[in-house]
Amino acid sequence: MDPVLRKGGPGGKPPWLKVRLEDWAEFRRTEEVVLTHGLHTVCHSARCPNIGECWSRGTATLMLLGNTCTRTCGFCAVKSGVPRAFDPHEPHRVAEAVKALGLRFAVLTSVARDDLPDGGAWVFAESIREIRRLCPGVGVEVLIPDLRGKDEHLDLVFDARPDVLNHNIETVRRLQRRVRPSAAYGRSLRVLARAAERGLVAKSGLMLGLGETGDEVRETLGDLRAAGVRIVTIGQYLRPDEDHLPMERYASPEEFEELRDYARVLGFDHVESGPLVRSSYHAERAVAPA
Ligand code: SF4
Repeated sequence: MDPVLRKGGPGGKPPWLKVRLEDWAEFRRTEEVVLTHGLHTVCHSARCPNIGECWSRGTATLMLLGNTCTRTCGFCAVKSGVPRAFDPHEPHRVAEAVKALGLRFAVLTSVARDDLPDGGAWVFAESIREIRRLCPGVGVEVLIPDLRGKDEHLDLVFDARPDVLNHNIETVRRLQRRVRPSAAYGRSLRVLARAAERGLVAKSGLMLGLGETGDEVRETLGDLRAAGVRIVTIGQYLRPDEDHLPMERYASPEEFEELRDYARVLGFDHVESGPLVRSSYHAERAVAPA
């Protein structure tokens, strides 16, 4: 049976969602590197609650291809619209930023760019290659959009051999259309299965609090595992503002623990499950067992 559901409400956020800024000087240094290289981060654009912790540790998730997304997912704080032309030199700036930040493990993501013929696949692939060239020994995780499920575009990224290929399923099958209208549950599973078939470490993630049931979450975890996914993240959906999907409930820390145990039994190599978990949260420690 599902644990008791806690409603968000006038009492504000529960205590387990309190975050802190750990090191202001390091935070500013991270910010400066990002800005001087003319880059965007999902940390900032998606209003991630962990930005204080991650940036204070000198880690950030760089967002390729600008900060304007061609899709209108109901949960995401990144702005939608018509993006600018992409910059073919961005992969080099990304690698320079990874070097300047002194990262041992870099996480790259992007907005969806359905306006580009390859969906932005080349920029992902070239960024991986540039990081390999400029920062030997640095691990690379890419969190990709579905690239409309086109094998030739997915293979452009897969051929660059990222250490981790991440693609989020975001929510359970029933809620896909409401939560991310331009994507599809089956398509995302196929993206992940193809990555696993190509010998990559496949990773995915989903959010709680959008109206899903516990059984649906467990079914989704089973589907991800059956697709060959080895790392999974489970976190709390937080509504960015009134224009986004309402948050139905706060899942309790105990529910996250139960799901972690359940996912481990399914055979995932690594499970990050907790209220503040995001797909790039502690990404480096997730990859070690995989
Ligand atoms: S969890 Fe990921 S997106 Fe959030 S601040 Fe950390 S690195 Fe950035």
